[in-house]
Order: sequence, then structure tokens, then C-alpha cells
Amino acid sequence: MPLSEEDRKVLEFMEKNYPQYKDNLALGRLLYAKHLGRVARSVGGGEILKVKIKDINPSIVGSTVEVVGLLGHVEKYVFKRCPKCWRKDCVCNPKVDEGRFIDAVRWRMVVGDETGNIDVLYFPNVSGNHDFEVGREVVVRGRVKFFYDREDSDRIEILASNVSYVEPKNNGVEGEGLSIVLDFVRKAKKVSVDIVKKLCEKHGVNPELVYNVFEVRDGYVVAE
Ligand SMILES: [Zn+2]
Repeated sequence: MPLSEEDRKVLEFMEKNYPQYKDNLALGRLLYAKHLGRVARSVGGGEILKVKIKDINPSIVGSTVEVVGLLGHVEKYVFKRCPKCWRKDCVCNPKVDEGRFIDAVRWRMVVGDETGNIDVLYFPNVSGNHDFEVGREVVVRGRVKFFYDREDSDRIEILASNVSYVEPKNNGVEGEGLSIVLDFVRKAKKVSVDIVKKLCEKHGVNPELVYNVFEVRDGYVVAE
């Protein structure tokens, strides 16, 4: 099988830096992604690989990845599960009475970026009230696994630990949101703090940055 362009770069990188390990392409992919800085820290301190969907394959099963893409399909399934073992069919000993089961939601999604599609399975925390719409852009973080844990197929899915909509601040140039809000306040001369907060939220701006530029007086942001 010919190497993809990305894998050729991985191989070059390995030949240069770790020639004795260059035949381990899966290891090379991990090291190369880190070399490029395509990693983020997870809350738990582990590393998350920022990848394109085409790079998700059996060789990185078990890794934690982040992909950004559009929701192509969403399917919500509501069920009851045991509060102790978290299963639909309790495996606790002694069994937990079904009357004590709690509501749970399972999402099946298909997410696509410019390179391909991936299945995503997501069980949000009960506390979060989530809803997802087809056509929205999302950031998915989770562990790469075989589809239904079937290792006899090459089909891969992400068991997501988090799926969230892409915030507007991630679109376009960084700082663009801030200039929009600053311009708005300058033109209006006086805008209530509530409106400024809403505008900031919409454009992904920290309101403190706006308060630093103008004066805040009696519940208004004032530009004079
Ligand atoms: Zn149980």
C-alpha cells in the first residue's frame, strides 16, 4: 500500500530523528503529531492528539484525539441505567433495583471534516443538558476504539468524553470578535453591561477586555 503524503512526512521525520524505530509507523505518527505541536492537554493531564479524520485508523486505537468537523448525523437514545455500574443491564452484586435506575442518554453521531467521516459515540454526563443538531460544527474529544469493539473490522469510532459546539471565536481571525464589540460600543457611545456581555458571549470575547478599554458607569459601558 503506498504511503499517504502525511505518512511520508512521518517517515522522513523518523529517519532523521529516530532511525532505529522508523519501521514503527504508528509510533512515528504519535511522535510526529507531538513534534508539530498538534497536541493539547486533557484535564487529567494526558495528551490529546489533534488529528484529521483520515488519520484515525486501527494503529491509533486507544489514543485520545480531538477532531473538529460538522455533524452529519445525530441519533439520540434515552434509556435507564444502574446508578452504580452504569449499565442498562445491572451487573452489580446484589443487583440494584430497577426502580433506582437513572436516566441516561446515548448519542450516535457521524462527524465529517474535509478529509473523511467518523462514527462518534457519546454518553454525556447526566448533569449536562445536551442537544445536537445536524449541520453544526463541533469539537469532539475522545478515545479511538474499534466500532462495537470488533477488532475483526477496520471500522473505527470515537468514544467521546466531550462533544461541544465550536465557539464563534474559533472562526476567522483571533481578536476579530473583540474589535467587533469595541466598534459597536464606540459607535453606540453608551451600551448597557448586559448587552455588552451578550455581545461578548456571541463573539467569544472576555468582557473584561472591553471594560478595560472603556469606562463602566451605572451599569453602562461608556465610550467618550
Ligand atoms: Zn448495577
